[in-house]
Amino acid sequence: MEYKSDITQLYSADNIKNRIKEISSEIENEYKTNDELVIVCLLKGGFTFTADLIRELFMDVRVEFMCVSSYGNELKSSGVINIKQDISSDISGKNIIIIDDIVDTGRTLFEIRNYLSKKNPNSIKTCCLLDKKEKREFDINIDYYGFVCPDVFVVGYGMDASGMYRNLPYIGKI
Ligand code: 5GP
Ligand code: MG
Repeated sequence: MEYKSDITQLYSADNIKNRIKEISSEIENEYKTNDELVIVCLLKGGFTFTADLIRELFMDVRVEFMCVSSYGNELKSSGVINIKQDISSDISGKNIIIIDDIVDTGRTLFEIRNYLSKKNPNSIKTCCLLDKKEKREFDINIDYYGFVCPDVFVVGYGMDASGMYRNLPYIGKI
């Protein structure tokens, strides 16, 4: 068996694995044992990264999932996001890390961060495997990131093109 499309590998499965170990150490060092940490995984793209990252975290965490729909082309924040699936537990007083696959304009994380901050958590941080730094339009800080990514369309390791390639163990461009 082989993949039908030509994909040029940018980040190998080993690159990703090693970087995740480093990120998890950063996270472990920043939270104390008694901090209640809630990982909020953004679906669908964030599922692979979240699954691997949480298994490198040697601390107590809860995991929640959110799914927001993609948006139109307006460049400004609409202040609303279409939440298809919301978190299902109370996060007031808890420490949150929002996890996504990739940050581009920053809009997704900006809106979700605003939305979750209204639920009165103690703190909110953001974590993305890939950061397309040069594309940023929204003022959002990425507290933990894996790699700075060039402005190309990437797939694999959770990320899709029309629903395909999420299962690739590496990240590449088509
Ligand atoms: P933002 O809201 O930061 O503009 O875009 C972030 C979202 O756009 C990500 O969660 C991801 O779903 C999608 N995205 C941005 N760049 C890429 C890319 O290169 N490949 C894929 N598959 N999705 C991307
Ligand atoms: Mg996404």
